[in-house]
Amino acid sequence: MTQWKKTTVGCPACLEDGEFTICSFIDIAEDPDLKESIFDRSLFRFTCPECGEEILVSYSCTYFDSDNNFMVALVTEKDDSSLKTDCYTLRIVRSINEFVEKIALMEDGIDDRIIELYKIMLEDQFEEERHGAEILGIYYSGQNSDTKNLLFYIITGNVENCRAELSFDTYTAISGQLENSAKFDESCTEINRLWAITALQKGFSDEKEK
Ligand SMILES: [Zn+2]
Repeated sequence: MTQWKKTTVGCPACLEDGEFTICSFIDIAEDPDLKESIFDRSLFRFTCPECGEEILVSYSCTYFDSDNNFMVALVTEKDDSSLKTDCYTLRIVRSINEFVEKIALMEDGIDDRIIELYKIMLEDQFEEERHGAEILGIYYSGQNSDTKNLLFYIITGNVENCRAELSFDTYTAISGQLENSAKFDESCTEINRLWAITALQKGFSDEKEK
């Protein structure tokens, strides 16, 4: 069942406290309309009643999809030990961008472990092509409805943000190649850049031992 809570947010502009209704648990089968407000970030947008300032507030929130058997938890506090799942794929994320990305990946049936590994390759390629470019994040942004190509946006610190496209065939090929790396630590629920770097190093050292 979807759960709402009231909290207060301190406005960074006028420093007044304002009331903010947050959604701590999203049951998407019950409230399918909430998906739109996640993807457009409005679920996390606080508008100050005093001065009208708008900010994104990242708060702890769990997305539950009983049709597709997955849960994505945005965890903003240190303690995440209360999350238990037996029959669902669980992912824990730390930012709104990651939260939106994981839900999109899980829904599209794309293996997020392969995507994190691919992003490391994309990072290397991008930095090679644009010398000195600083990447702040790469996020999956959905599939092209005609070609089924996977779309990504690259957020950079010092050059223009970019888009990248991965063909579905290449995704399948990479899945085959990276299968062993992706299976590293199967109980891990935090599949992110750090996980991918560790998985690649692990995969590499396993190769060497053979
Ligand atoms: Zn304000």
